[in-house]
Amino acid sequence: MQRAQIIVEFDNCGIFPTPQRIEIAQILLKEPQHLSAEQVIERLRSKGSGVSKATVYNTLNLFTERGLVNECVVDPERRFYDSNTDAHHHFYNLDTGELIDIPQDEIAFAELPDLGGEGRIERVEVLIKVRGKTGES
Ligand SMILES: [Zn+2]
Repeated sequence: MQRAQIIVEFDNCGIFPTPQRIEIAQILLKEPQHLSAEQVIERLRSKGSGVSKATVYNTLNLFTERGLVNECVVDPERRFYDSNTDAHHHFYNLDTGELIDIPQDEIAFAELPDLGGEGRIERVEVLIKVRGKTGES
């Protein structure tokens, strides 16, 4: 994604465009992908960037809060930042650590539990944990 496009996206989400935030967004929004904070840091380092770990973590939290990316928590120790914010589901491969998208319409629910009260379902996200060699992602 071009710098100018990122600035437009930031503006839509109410994110102030600091150089560090732009650098992080350029990595994350490059293509539909799932990256952990550590993977973002590795890619920054390989580009010779000196953005601190703390800034990366804070920025990823901000991007999530503002809806620029979607956070996918696969277990308490592992979370991924998804550049695809459209509603969809995931396979998570426990052997490879890979997260694979499942289109929203490929999982159907015969029935969802009644929430009761004033609550409403905001979003349904299914995480299917798998093992072994999986097909093309
Ligand atoms: Zn995804």
